[in-house]
Amino acid sequence: MPDLLARYAAFVDDVLLPIEPLALAHPWPAIATQIDTVRQAARERGLWAPHLPAEWGGLALPLGEFAEVSAILGRTPLGHYACNVQAPDVGNMELLLTHGSPEQREQYLRPLASGVIRSCFGMTEPGRAGSNPVWLDTTAIRDGDSWVLNGRKWFASSAEGASFCVVLAVTTPEAKKPHHRASMFIVPTDTPGYALVRNIPVMGHVGAGYASHGELTFTNCRVPASAMIGAEGAGFVLAQERLGPGRVHHCMRWIGICDRAIDLMCRYALTREMAPGEPLAFKQVVRHWIAESRAETEAARLFVRDTVQKLERNGQRATRDEISMIKYFVPQVMQRVLDRALQVHGGYGLTDATPLANWWAHERAARIYDGPDEVHKDAVAKHTLERYLPKRG
Ligand SMILES: Cc1cc2nc3c(=O)[nH]c(=O)nc-3n(C[C@H](O)[C@H](O)[C@H](O)COP(=O)(O)OP(=O)(O)OC[C@H]3O[C@@H](n4cnc5c(N)ncnc54)[C@H](O)[C@@H]3O)c2cc1C
Repeated sequence: MPDLLARYAAFVDDVLLPIEPLALAHPWPAIATQIDTVRQAARERGLWAPHLPAEWGGLALPLGEFAEVSAILGRTPLGHYACNVQAPDVGNMELLLTHGSPEQREQYLRPLASGVIRSCFGMTEPGRAGSNPVWLDTTAIRDGDSWVLNGRKWFASSAEGASFCVVLAVTTPEAKKPHHRASMFIVPTDTPGYALVRNIPVMGHVGAGYASHGELTFTNCRVPASAMIGAEGAGFVLAQERLGPGRVHHCMRWIGICDRAIDLMCRYALTREMAPGEPLAFKQVVRHWIAESRAETEAARLFVRDTVQKLERNGQRATRDEISMIKYFVPQVMQRVLDRALQVHGGYGLTDATPLANWWAHERAARIYDGPDEVHKDAVAKHTLERYLPKRG
Protein backbone atom coordinates (compact mmCIF):
# COMPACT_ATOMS: atom_id res chain seq x y z
CA MET A 1 0.00 0.00 0.00
CA PRO A 2 2.71 2.62 0.81
CA ASP A 3 4.21 1.97 -2.63
CA LEU A 4 0.82 2.38 -4.31
CA LEU A 5 0.16 5.62 -2.42
CA ALA A 6 3.58 6.90 -3.50
CA ARG A 7 2.67 6.11 -7.12
CA TYR A 8 -0.59 8.03 -6.80
CA ALA A 9 1.27 10.97 -5.26
CA ALA A 10 3.82 10.93 -8.09
CA PHE A 11 0.98 10.82 -10.64
CA VAL A 12 -0.62 13.90 -9.06
CA ASP A 13 2.67 15.79 -8.90
CA ASP A 14 4.12 14.83 -12.28
CA VAL A 15 1.08 14.43 -14.51
CA LEU A 16 -1.89 16.31 -13.05
CA LEU A 17 -0.46 19.44 -11.45
CA PRO A 18 1.24 20.56 -14.69
CA ILE A 19 -2.12 20.70 -16.50
CA GLU A 20 -4.10 22.03 -13.52
CA PRO A 21 -3.79 25.69 -14.63
CA LEU A 22 -5.41 24.74 -17.95
CA ALA A 23 -8.26 22.99 -16.18
CA LEU A 24 -8.83 26.02 -13.93
CA ALA A 25 -8.84 28.44 -16.84
CA HIS A 26 -11.08 26.55 -19.28
CA PRO A 27 -14.35 24.64 -19.21
CA TRP A 28 -13.48 20.96 -19.20
CA PRO A 29 -14.92 20.15 -22.64
CA ALA A 30 -12.39 22.62 -24.08
CA ILE A 31 -9.47 20.59 -22.74
CA ALA A 32 -10.88 17.15 -23.52
CA THR A 33 -7.69 16.07 -25.29
CA GLN A 34 -5.48 16.87 -22.30
CA ILE A 35 -7.92 15.11 -19.97
CA ASP A 36 -7.93 12.02 -22.20
CA THR A 37 -4.14 12.03 -22.10
CA VAL A 38 -3.96 12.06 -18.30
CA ARG A 39 -6.62 9.35 -18.10
CA GLN A 40 -4.53 7.22 -20.42
CA ALA A 41 -1.49 7.90 -18.22
CA ALA A 42 -3.49 6.69 -15.18
CA ARG A 43 -4.30 3.46 -17.01
CA GLU A 44 -0.70 2.93 -18.06
CA ARG A 45 0.58 3.55 -14.53
CA GLY A 46 -1.86 0.98 -13.11
CA LEU A 47 -3.86 3.60 -11.19
CA TRP A 48 -7.21 3.27 -12.97
CA ALA A 49 -10.44 2.67 -11.01
CA PRO A 50 -8.95 1.74 -7.63
CA HIS A 51 -12.42 0.99 -6.23
CA LEU A 52 -13.40 -1.66 -8.81
CA PRO A 53 -12.62 -5.39 -8.81
CA ALA A 54 -9.93 -6.61 -11.20
CA GLU A 55 -12.47 -8.16 -13.60
CA TRP A 56 -13.86 -4.65 -14.09
CA GLY A 57 -10.42 -3.22 -14.76
CA GLY A 58 -9.79 -1.89 -11.25
CA LEU A 59 -7.41 -2.37 -8.34
CA ALA A 60 -9.96 -3.89 -5.93
CA LEU A 61 -8.93 -1.67 -3.03
CA PRO A 62 -11.02 -2.02 0.11
CA LEU A 63 -12.77 1.17 1.25
CA GLY A 64 -10.06 2.07 3.79
CA GLU A 65 -7.29 1.92 1.20
CA PHE A 66 -9.38 3.65 -1.41
CA ALA A 67 -10.01 6.44 1.13
CA GLU A 68 -6.26 7.04 1.40
CA VAL A 69 -6.01 7.18 -2.40
CA SER A 70 -8.92 9.59 -2.44
CA ALA A 71 -7.10 12.01 -0.14
CA ILE A 72 -4.13 12.04 -2.51
CA LEU A 73 -6.26 12.54 -5.61
CA GLY A 74 -8.25 15.24 -3.80
CA ARG A 75 -5.17 17.50 -3.88
CA THR A 76 -6.20 18.61 -7.36
CA PRO A 77 -9.64 19.12 -8.93
CA LEU A 78 -8.48 16.74 -11.69
CA GLY A 79 -7.49 13.83 -9.46
CA HIS A 80 -10.63 11.76 -9.20
CA TYR A 81 -11.67 12.23 -12.80
CA ALA A 82 -8.22 11.24 -14.05
CA CYS A 83 -8.53 7.84 -12.34
CA ASN A 84 -12.25 7.32 -13.09
CA VAL A 85 -13.35 7.60 -9.46
CA GLN A 86 -15.33 10.83 -9.83
CA ALA A 87 -18.79 11.39 -8.42
CA PRO A 88 -21.47 10.62 -9.48
CA ASP A 89 -20.02 7.83 -11.67
CA VAL A 90 -18.24 6.15 -8.78
CA GLY A 91 -21.53 5.78 -6.86
CA ASN A 92 -23.31 4.48 -9.94
CA MET A 93 -20.51 1.97 -10.56
CA GLU A 94 -20.73 0.68 -6.99
CA LEU A 95 -24.51 0.51 -7.26
CA LEU A 96 -24.46 -1.48 -10.51
CA LEU A 97 -21.72 -3.74 -9.23
CA THR A 98 -23.74 -4.67 -6.16
CA HIS A 99 -27.30 -4.50 -7.40
CA GLY A 100 -27.23 -4.44 -11.21
CA SER A 101 -28.45 -7.45 -13.18
CA PRO A 102 -25.78 -9.23 -15.30
CA GLU A 103 -27.24 -7.50 -18.40
CA GLN A 104 -27.21 -4.05 -16.73
CA ARG A 105 -23.63 -4.58 -15.67
CA GLU A 106 -22.51 -5.56 -19.16
CA GLN A 107 -24.44 -2.75 -20.86
CA TYR A 108 -23.77 0.12 -18.42
CA LEU A 109 -21.09 -0.78 -15.89
CA ARG A 110 -18.66 -2.13 -18.48
CA PRO A 111 -18.31 1.13 -20.49
CA LEU A 112 -18.55 3.25 -17.32
CA ALA A 113 -15.73 1.27 -15.70
CA SER A 114 -13.54 1.66 -18.77
CA GLY A 115 -14.24 5.41 -18.95
CA VAL A 116 -15.91 5.32 -22.35
CA ILE A 117 -19.15 6.85 -21.05
CA ARG A 118 -20.32 8.99 -18.11
CA SER A 119 -23.52 8.89 -16.08
CA CYS A 120 -25.59 11.03 -13.71
CA PHE A 121 -27.91 10.55 -10.76
CA GLY A 122 -31.39 12.07 -10.56
CA MET A 123 -32.99 12.10 -7.15
CA THR A 124 -33.52 15.75 -6.13
CA GLU A 125 -36.54 17.63 -7.50
CA PRO A 126 -37.25 21.36 -7.72
CA GLY A 127 -40.72 21.04 -6.19
CA ARG A 128 -39.79 18.91 -3.19
CA ALA A 129 -37.32 19.29 -0.32
CA GLY A 130 -34.26 17.26 -1.25
CA SER A 131 -33.56 16.88 2.47
CA ASN A 132 -36.55 14.55 2.61
CA PRO A 133 -35.71 12.21 -0.28
CA VAL A 134 -38.66 9.91 0.33
CA TRP A 135 -41.00 12.71 -0.77
CA LEU A 136 -40.83 12.67 -4.56
CA ASP A 137 -43.15 13.82 -7.33
CA THR A 138 -41.61 11.88 -10.20
CA THR A 139 -43.65 8.79 -10.98
CA ALA A 140 -43.08 5.59 -12.91
CA ILE A 141 -46.20 3.72 -13.95
CA ARG A 142 -46.12 0.14 -15.17
CA ASP A 143 -47.47 -0.35 -18.68
CA GLY A 144 -47.06 -3.90 -19.96
CA ASP A 145 -43.37 -4.65 -20.21
CA SER A 146 -42.40 -1.02 -19.65
CA TRP A 147 -42.33 1.70 -17.02
CA VAL A 148 -43.41 5.21 -18.03
CA LEU A 149 -41.69 8.03 -16.14
CA ASN A 150 -43.00 11.55 -15.65
CA GLY A 151 -41.43 14.26 -13.54
CA ARG A 152 -38.63 16.78 -13.15
CA LYS A 153 -35.23 16.49 -11.47
CA TRP A 154 -32.53 19.05 -10.87
CA PHE A 155 -28.93 19.32 -9.75
CA ALA A 156 -28.13 16.09 -11.58
CA SER A 157 -24.37 16.56 -11.58
CA SER A 158 -22.56 15.79 -14.85
CA ALA A 159 -25.85 15.39 -16.74
CA GLU A 160 -24.51 17.11 -19.85
CA GLY A 161 -22.83 14.41 -21.90
CA ALA A 162 -23.99 11.58 -19.64
CA SER A 163 -25.11 8.41 -21.41
CA PHE A 164 -27.56 7.37 -18.74
CA CYS A 165 -29.20 8.68 -15.61
CA VAL A 166 -30.01 6.62 -12.52
CA VAL A 167 -33.44 7.97 -11.58
CA LEU A 168 -35.59 7.62 -8.50
CA ALA A 169 -39.32 7.56 -9.21
CA VAL A 170 -42.40 6.65 -7.18
CA THR A 171 -43.78 3.28 -8.27
CA THR A 172 -45.70 2.24 -5.17
CA PRO A 173 -47.42 5.33 -3.73
CA GLU A 174 -49.69 3.15 -1.61
CA ALA A 175 -46.79 1.61 0.33
CA LYS A 176 -47.30 2.22 4.04
CA LYS A 177 -43.71 3.25 4.69
CA PRO A 178 -42.62 6.27 2.62
CA HIS A 179 -39.18 4.71 2.07
CA HIS A 180 -40.75 1.82 0.16
CA ARG A 181 -42.52 3.97 -2.43
CA ALA A 182 -39.76 4.70 -4.93
CA SER A 183 -37.81 2.48 -7.29
CA MET A 184 -34.59 3.07 -9.16
CA PHE A 185 -34.28 3.04 -12.95
CA ILE A 186 -31.56 3.29 -15.54
CA VAL A 187 -32.72 5.80 -18.13
CA PRO A 188 -30.49 6.15 -21.22
CA THR A 189 -30.31 9.84 -22.06
CA ASP A 190 -31.36 9.20 -25.67
CA THR A 191 -34.71 7.77 -24.53
CA PRO A 192 -37.61 9.72 -26.09
CA GLY A 193 -39.20 11.85 -23.36
CA TYR A 194 -35.93 12.45 -21.51
CA ALA A 195 -34.63 16.03 -21.78
CA LEU A 196 -31.76 18.00 -20.31
CA VAL A 197 -33.57 21.33 -19.99
CA ARG A 198 -30.61 23.42 -18.86
CA ASN A 199 -27.33 23.46 -17.03
CA ILE A 200 -27.98 25.17 -13.70
CA PRO A 201 -25.48 27.95 -12.93
CA VAL A 202 -23.79 27.18 -9.61
CA MET A 203 -21.84 29.91 -7.76
CA GLY A 204 -21.68 32.04 -10.89
CA HIS A 205 -20.60 29.28 -13.28
CA VAL A 206 -22.75 27.55 -15.85
CA GLY A 207 -20.82 24.32 -15.79
CA ALA A 208 -20.31 22.23 -18.89
CA GLY A 209 -19.85 18.54 -19.54
CA TYR A 210 -18.59 16.70 -16.49
CA ALA A 211 -18.76 19.94 -14.44
CA SER A 212 -22.45 20.56 -15.22
CA HIS A 213 -25.49 20.31 -12.96
CA GLY A 214 -28.56 19.55 -15.01
CA GLU A 215 -32.26 20.13 -14.76
CA LEU A 216 -34.02 17.16 -16.36
CA THR A 217 -37.56 16.43 -17.45
CA PHE A 218 -39.19 13.06 -18.02
CA THR A 219 -42.27 13.24 -20.21
CA ASN A 220 -43.90 9.89 -20.87
CA CYS A 221 -40.38 8.55 -20.86
CA ARG A 222 -40.69 4.82 -21.46
CA VAL A 223 -38.06 2.32 -20.34
CA PRO A 224 -38.25 -1.48 -20.38
CA ALA A 225 -39.07 -3.37 -17.17
CA SER A 226 -35.45 -4.55 -17.18
CA ALA A 227 -34.33 -0.95 -16.52
CA MET A 228 -35.21 -1.22 -12.85
CA ILE A 229 -32.25 -1.65 -10.49
CA GLY A 230 -33.02 -4.01 -7.62
CA ALA A 231 -36.55 -4.67 -6.45
CA GLU A 232 -39.65 -2.53 -6.83
CA GLY A 233 -39.86 -0.18 -3.85
CA ALA A 234 -36.14 -0.53 -3.03
CA GLY A 235 -35.10 2.81 -4.55
CA PHE A 236 -34.64 4.75 -1.34
CA VAL A 237 -32.73 1.96 0.41
CA LEU A 238 -30.41 1.58 -2.61
CA ALA A 239 -29.88 5.35 -2.74
CA GLN A 240 -28.87 5.38 0.93
CA GLU A 241 -26.58 2.41 0.41
CA ARG A 242 -24.98 4.24 -2.53
CA LEU A 243 -24.46 7.37 -0.43
CA GLY A 244 -22.80 5.68 2.61
CA PRO A 245 -19.39 4.88 1.06
CA GLY A 246 -19.91 7.95 -1.16
CA ARG A 247 -19.74 10.17 1.93
CA VAL A 248 -16.44 8.55 2.92
CA HIS A 249 -15.07 9.16 -0.60
CA HIS A 250 -16.11 12.81 -0.46
CA CYS A 251 -14.70 13.31 3.05
CA MET A 252 -11.28 11.98 2.08
CA ARG A 253 -11.33 14.10 -1.08
CA TRP A 254 -12.03 17.15 1.10
CA ILE A 255 -9.11 16.18 3.34
CA GLY A 256 -6.97 16.11 0.20
CA ILE A 257 -8.17 19.65 -0.49
CA CYS A 258 -7.10 20.66 3.04
CA ASP A 259 -3.66 19.07 2.51
CA ARG A 260 -3.15 21.04 -0.69
CA ALA A 261 -4.48 24.26 0.84
CA ILE A 262 -1.97 23.94 3.71
CA ASP A 263 0.79 23.24 1.21
CA LEU A 264 -0.11 26.32 -0.85
CA MET A 265 -0.50 28.44 2.29
CA CYS A 266 2.98 27.48 3.56
CA ARG A 267 4.72 27.97 0.22
CA TYR A 268 3.13 31.37 -0.30
CA ALA A 269 3.74 32.53 3.28
CA LEU A 270 7.43 31.72 2.89
CA THR A 271 7.89 33.49 -0.45
CA ARG A 272 5.62 36.54 -0.13
CA GLU A 273 7.57 39.34 1.54
CA MET A 274 5.77 42.06 3.46
CA ALA A 275 8.95 44.13 3.49
CA PRO A 276 12.47 43.26 2.33
CA GLY A 277 13.54 40.09 4.14
CA GLU A 278 10.22 39.76 6.01
CA PRO A 279 8.18 36.88 4.66
CA LEU A 280 4.54 36.59 5.58
CA ALA A 281 5.42 33.38 7.41
CA PHE A 282 7.02 35.53 10.16
CA LYS A 283 3.59 36.81 11.20
CA GLN A 284 2.27 35.05 14.24
CA VAL A 285 -1.29 34.98 12.99
CA VAL A 286 -0.24 33.15 9.83
CA ARG A 287 1.76 30.64 11.87
CA HIS A 288 -1.33 30.01 13.99
CA TRP A 289 -3.45 29.51 10.86
CA ILE A 290 -0.97 26.91 9.63
CA ALA A 291 -0.90 25.14 12.99
CA GLU A 292 -4.69 25.19 13.42
CA SER A 293 -5.23 23.98 9.88
CA ARG A 294 -2.85 21.08 10.34
CA ALA A 295 -4.46 20.01 13.64
CA GLU A 296 -7.98 20.22 12.26
CA THR A 297 -7.06 18.34 9.09
CA GLU A 298 -5.35 15.55 11.02
CA ALA A 299 -8.32 15.28 13.38
CA ALA A 300 -10.65 15.02 10.39
CA ARG A 301 -8.44 12.38 8.75
CA LEU A 302 -8.39 10.22 11.88
CA PHE A 303 -12.14 10.61 12.29
CA VAL A 304 -12.75 9.37 8.74
CA ARG A 305 -10.28 6.50 9.12
CA ASP A 306 -11.98 5.44 12.35
CA THR A 307 -15.38 5.62 10.63
CA VAL A 308 -14.13 3.44 7.78
CA GLN A 309 -12.88 0.82 10.24
CA LYS A 310 -16.24 0.77 12.01
CA LEU A 311 -18.06 0.64 8.69
CA GLU A 312 -15.99 -2.33 7.52
CA ARG A 313 -16.41 -4.09 10.87
CA ASN A 314 -20.03 -3.36 11.73
CA GLY A 315 -21.79 -2.41 8.48
CA GLN A 316 -23.48 0.75 7.32
CA ARG A 317 -26.48 0.77 9.61
CA ALA A 318 -24.44 0.43 12.79
CA THR A 319 -22.14 3.21 11.59
CA ARG A 320 -24.78 5.66 10.40
CA ASP A 321 -24.04 8.22 13.15
CA GLU A 322 -20.32 8.23 12.40
CA ILE A 323 -21.04 8.63 8.68
CA SER A 324 -23.34 11.54 9.48
CA MET A 325 -20.78 13.09 11.83
CA ILE A 326 -17.94 13.04 9.30
CA LYS A 327 -20.33 14.39 6.67
CA TYR A 328 -20.88 17.61 8.66
CA PHE A 329 -17.53 17.76 10.45
CA VAL A 330 -15.12 17.47 7.51
CA PRO A 331 -16.70 20.10 5.18
CA GLN A 332 -16.56 22.64 8.00
CA VAL A 333 -12.87 21.90 8.58
CA MET A 334 -12.33 22.24 4.83
CA GLN A 335 -14.10 25.59 4.76
CA ARG A 336 -11.97 26.97 7.59
CA VAL A 337 -8.72 25.70 6.08
CA LEU A 338 -9.59 27.06 2.62
CA ASP A 339 -10.56 30.39 4.14
CA ARG A 340 -7.20 30.73 5.89
CA ALA A 341 -5.28 29.68 2.78
CA LEU A 342 -7.19 32.22 0.69
CA GLN A 343 -6.54 34.97 3.23
CA VAL A 344 -2.80 34.25 3.23
CA HIS A 345 -2.76 34.64 -0.57
CA GLY A 346 -4.47 38.05 -0.47
CA GLY A 347 -5.97 39.12 -3.81
CA TYR A 348 -3.92 36.47 -5.61
CA GLY A 349 -5.94 33.82 -3.78
CA LEU A 350 -9.09 34.95 -5.54
CA THR A 351 -7.61 34.44 -8.99
CA ASP A 352 -7.48 31.13 -10.84
CA ALA A 353 -3.72 30.88 -10.38
CA THR A 354 -4.34 28.29 -7.66
CA PRO A 355 -7.33 25.97 -7.16
CA LEU A 356 -8.24 27.77 -3.91
CA ALA A 357 -10.86 30.12 -5.41
CA ASN A 358 -12.44 27.32 -7.42
CA TRP A 359 -12.67 25.12 -4.32
CA TRP A 360 -13.94 27.98 -2.19
CA ALA A 361 -16.86 28.50 -4.58
CA HIS A 362 -17.64 24.94 -5.58
CA GLU A 363 -16.95 23.02 -2.41
CA ARG A 364 -19.42 25.15 -0.45
CA ALA A 365 -21.95 22.69 -1.80
CA ALA A 366 -20.35 20.02 0.39
CA ARG A 367 -22.47 21.27 3.29
CA ILE A 368 -25.63 20.79 1.22
CA TYR A 369 -25.42 17.77 -1.10
CA ASP A 370 -25.64 14.20 0.18
CA GLY A 371 -27.66 15.63 3.07
CA PRO A 372 -27.30 19.17 4.44
CA ASP A 373 -25.43 19.58 7.75
CA GLU A 374 -28.67 20.09 9.65
CA VAL A 375 -30.21 16.81 8.48
CA HIS A 376 -27.18 14.83 9.64
CA LYS A 377 -26.94 16.72 12.94
CA ASP A 378 -30.62 16.14 13.56
CA ALA A 379 -30.18 12.39 12.97
CA VAL A 380 -27.14 12.16 15.26
CA ALA A 381 -28.90 14.12 18.01
CA LYS A 382 -32.01 11.95 17.67
CA HIS A 383 -30.04 8.69 18.01
CA THR A 384 -28.01 10.12 20.89
CA LEU A 385 -31.07 11.32 22.79
CA GLU A 386 -32.79 7.96 22.25
CA ARG A 387 -30.19 6.38 24.49
CA TYR A 388 -31.43 8.53 27.37
CA LEU A 389 -35.13 7.78 26.92
CA PRO A 390 -36.79 5.08 29.02
CA LYS A 391 -37.02 1.77 27.11
CA ARG A 392 -40.53 0.95 25.81
CA GLY A 393 -42.33 -2.28 26.76
C1 LIG B 1 -23.47 21.26 -6.43
C2 LIG B 1 -24.61 20.32 -6.15
C3 LIG B 1 -24.59 19.05 -6.73
C4 LIG B 1 -25.67 18.17 -6.53
N1 LIG B 1 -25.69 16.97 -7.18
C5 LIG B 1 -26.81 16.20 -7.12
C6 LIG B 1 -26.93 15.03 -7.93
O1 LIG B 1 -26.01 14.67 -8.68
N2 LIG B 1 -28.10 14.33 -7.89
C7 LIG B 1 -29.14 14.70 -7.08
O2 LIG B 1 -30.16 14.02 -7.08
N3 LIG B 1 -29.04 15.80 -6.29
C8 LIG B 1 -27.91 16.56 -6.31
N4 LIG B 1 -27.83 17.70 -5.55
C9 LIG B 1 -28.96 18.11 -4.73
C10 LIG B 1 -28.69 17.97 -3.24
O3 LIG B 1 -28.62 16.62 -2.87
C11 LIG B 1 -29.80 18.75 -2.51
O4 LIG B 1 -29.57 20.13 -2.77
C12 LIG B 1 -29.80 18.48 -1.02
O5 LIG B 1 -30.26 17.18 -0.76
C13 LIG B 1 -30.70 19.49 -0.28
O6 LIG B 1 -31.97 19.52 -0.85
P1 LIG B 1 -32.62 20.92 -1.28
O7 LIG B 1 -31.65 21.66 -2.10
O8 LIG B 1 -33.95 20.63 -1.85
O9 LIG B 1 -32.77 21.72 0.08
P2 LIG B 1 -34.02 21.63 1.08
O10 LIG B 1 -34.36 20.22 1.37
O11 LIG B 1 -35.09 22.52 0.58
O12 LIG B 1 -33.38 22.26 2.39
C14 LIG B 1 -33.05 23.65 2.49
C15 LIG B 1 -32.28 23.86 3.76
O13 LIG B 1 -33.12 23.53 4.86
C16 LIG B 1 -32.33 23.17 5.96
N5 LIG B 1 -32.84 21.92 6.53
C17 LIG B 1 -33.19 20.80 5.88
N6 LIG B 1 -33.58 19.85 6.76
C18 LIG B 1 -33.45 20.38 7.99
C19 LIG B 1 -33.65 19.88 9.32
N7 LIG B 1 -34.06 18.64 9.54
N8 LIG B 1 -33.42 20.73 10.34
C20 LIG B 1 -33.01 22.00 10.13
N9 LIG B 1 -32.77 22.52 8.91
C21 LIG B 1 -32.99 21.71 7.86
C22 LIG B 1 -30.91 22.95 5.45
O14 LIG B 1 -30.10 24.04 5.88
C23 LIG B 1 -31.07 22.97 3.96
O15 LIG B 1 -29.90 23.46 3.30
C24 LIG B 1 -26.74 18.57 -5.70
C25 LIG B 1 -26.72 19.83 -5.09
C26 LIG B 1 -25.67 20.70 -5.30
C27 LIG B 1 -25.70 22.04 -4.66
